[in-house]
Amino acid sequence: MKVDPSDFRRHGHALVEWIAEYLAGSERYPVLSRVAPGDVRRALPDAAPEQGESFESIFADFERVLVPALTHWNHPGFFGYFAITASAPGVLAEFLSAALNQQAMLWRTSPAATELEEVSLGWLRRLMGLPDSFEGVIYDTASISSLHALAAARELVMPDVRERGMAGRADLGAFRVYCSEQAHVSIDKAVILLGLGQRSLRHVAVDADFRMRADALRTAISEDRTAGVTPLAVVATAGTTSTTSVDPLGEIATICRREGVWLHVDAAYAGVTAMLPEYRPRFAGWEQADSVVVNPHKWLFTPFDLSAFYCRRMDAVRQAFSLVPEYLQTPEGARGVRNLMDTGVQLGRRFRALKLWMVLRHFGAAGLRAALNEHLRLAQIFRAWVDADPQFERLAPAPFSVVCFRGRPAGFSGTAEELDALNARLLDAVNATGEVFLSHTRLNGRFALRLAVGHLRTTDEHVARAWELLKQHLSQS
Ligand SMILES: *Cc1c(COP(=O)(O)O)cnc(C)c1O
Repeated sequence: MKVDPSDFRRHGHALVEWIAEYLAGSERYPVLSRVAPGDVRRALPDAAPEQGESFESIFADFERVLVPALTHWNHPGFFGYFAITASAPGVLAEFLSAALNQQAMLWRTSPAATELEEVSLGWLRRLMGLPDSFEGVIYDTASISSLHALAAARELVMPDVRERGMAGRADLGAFRVYCSEQAHVSIDKAVILLGLGQRSLRHVAVDADFRMRADALRTAISEDRTAGVTPLAVVATAGTTSTTSVDPLGEIATICRREGVWLHVDAAYAGVTAMLPEYRPRFAGWEQADSVVVNPHKWLFTPFDLSAFYCRRMDAVRQAFSLVPEYLQTPEGARGVRNLMDTGVQLGRRFRALKLWMVLRHFGAAGLRAALNEHLRLAQIFRAWVDADPQFERLAPAPFSVVCFRGRPAGFSGTAEELDALNARLLDAVNATGEVFLSHTRLNGRFALRLAVGHLRTTDEHVARAWELLKQHLSQS
């Protein structure tokens, strides 16, 4: 059933109205969805309709069944995980991108998407002060970016792995990847997927501020070398997921250079703050890395998904993944244009660069810096409240826009486990209000609440409300 152009216009305009209302007024919904598991499934038929249905009836079910089952990442009271924003220019770019339906596997299948990816990633790279020797490519997520980094590292270290694989090879010894105890689990998943096995990943100890200990890394590498284990890569994190700690990138880069080991820097969340002159020094050393990942879908107001992968050895990525069948040979390919299918696992690629380009142009560098500074300011206000209140305590430094803390009511005399349980109840109670949503982590084995600022419409009032609710519910927990 073809959609009539006049119907498309009508529904399109109605949708734009709906989205505009939503983006401006998401506070009318509880942040965390209140549906129970299975509610959505039960509200929908078991089978697809035999006859096509009208857009009106489809949209009515969207509002009736799906909207109540949304958790509102675009709510200014969203403080969980890493708070994010699908900003208007990014939303409009996604709308356009769906209409254009570009599939940028080859330069010729979308010269625009191919070259805009290079241009917009170049802009972002210069804003963050990474050298031009880094070539960029867009993947969906940081998990996939890091997987490609480690695949490239494996390609360089393991002879003939592409042809011969790893199974049943007596000539291959053991290999090791290093990251800190606070690194993201996507690194574990990458070593699993690359056939290295989780045991090949060494979680290096961290210091009291949750940063990888460079001395412990040095010791680990030398122990492994002595035991005949080959270091394959080091993954340093700039902005860890639990506490946003930054590993000592300069020291780690020096170790990697001396050892001849691939250095991948996971800066998925915090990397964008390298745009701020006061924050740039925290990233010193990442310019020596072999690869860096930064997620504009995290803290650069770009709708999910868009991960920026920068690599100084994209030749190694291509060596690992390029495989061109006859039907994808093109004359310009032979003349050396970039075909995006060569830089990764997937063949087809969305026109993601469009939203990054529109976001960068809409805000401008000054606008982006102002938005980041505002989030940093709000988080530091919250941090000061926690520090000043004897009923709360901070559990980690808060170098960016995330604060890790817990409640400890005056006169509390229970066990550590009881304090954990109390804070878990506090979290549930605050989230049940629907006004805010926070998430948690564990630090040194103990339950910690996390407040992350990152939504463009979050203001002093929202942060103050979160604090008020925490204080109010602590006295009842
Ligand atoms: C969020 C995060 C990831 C995973 O991000 P995805 O894009 O969802 O895969 C990886 N590393 C760090 C440090 C993160 O904060």
